[in-house]
Amino acid sequence: MAQDYDEARPEVAEASERTLKDVRQMDAPSAKSVQSDLEETDLSEGTELPGAIVLDELVVEVVPQGSDEFVCGECFTVRHRSQAAREFDGVKICRDCAEL
Ligand SMILES: [Zn+2]
Repeated sequence: MAQDYDEARPEVAEASERTLKDVRQMDAPSAKSVQSDLEETDLSEGTELPGAIVLDELVVEVVPQGSDEFVCGECFTVRHRSQAAREFDGVKICRDCAEL
């Protein structure tokens, strides 16, 4: 009974080794080409859609403070200078927050 295990193990190991070697030798070229195709597809699909959205959000939050704009010290929203209601120590408060 114990011999069945001892006999079966090396057989399975050999079989799997042979199968792996055969698979590597036979499928190596096609597997590589398929893999590269998949990687290219993943890159184009993975970076363009979500990446573009993230970039747009970043641009909206970080870049917009221009010379005519300020960041409200209360709501941290970028406002035009004309919407500044108060200023404390260089921190401007927008009209919306000043009215609250
Ligand atoms: Zn505000």
